[in-house]
Amino acid sequence: MIAEPSYTIESLTDLLAGKTEVESLRTLAELFPGQVVFSSSFGYEDQVITDMILANNIPIRIFSLDTGRMFGETYQVWQKTNSRYDTRIEAHYPKTAAVEKMLNEKGPFSFYESIENRKECCFIRKVEPLNRALAGNKIWVTGIRAEQSQNRQTMTQLEADEVHNLVKFHPLMSWTFGEVKDYVRKNNVPYNPLHDRGFVSIGCQPCTRAIQEGEDFRAGRWWWEDNSKKECGLHAK
Ligand code: SF4
Repeated sequence: MIAEPSYTIESLTDLLAGKTEVESLRTLAELFPGQVVFSSSFGYEDQVITDMILANNIPIRIFSLDTGRMFGETYQVWQKTNSRYDTRIEAHYPKTAAVEKMLNEKGPFSFYESIENRKECCFIRKVEPLNRALAGNKIWVTGIRAEQSQNRQTMTQLEADEVHNLVKFHPLMSWTFGEVKDYVRKNNVPYNPLHDRGFVSIGCQPCTRAIQEGEDFRAGRWWWEDNSKKECGLHAK
């Protein structure tokens, strides 16, 4: 069961069956007015969903977690998105005191030293601000696709998120990378220029690098860690 007593994952799945991604987003926005949010990190997938929401005037709040360690290119695409759709994507920041404490105790690159340190940094800069941004909402829209990592292969388009007491909706779950790129090109959607330089999944600057052809989608994130550990905790079960 999910927070809204009259809906279950099964009944929502039935409700969205046969609908396009845009129709599904609109249906959810109408079903849960003011309680549907989309978290964007301005990557290809997120830009597709942003376009679907804003080009179709769907009342879904869009926010981004500004970790303070993002690429300059990411801020540029943020600005371009604001201008293109005449909007202001909301920013959520980590708590200053927590960042100061971590930096003062461990320095600016503690995340390279251990998985624990990396998870601590991701928690302070992403997970805790995300928890605040999601509080009180019913539906969390994400740009997750099954193809992106081993952990995501078994996920479905709608899933209960008991940590945040809401339902996650992944409209692009079954899309291929080629379909995402086609959508961006055909609709002239602003995108992060790092994608043209081999960056597939774009996160914080010190923890993201370009990948070689044929490498796993997540190979460019936290490349010094084991594949199975490569989640930042945003999508923890
Ligand atoms: S991706 Fe790297 S810099 Fe960003 S929050 Fe996680 S550990 Fe910190």
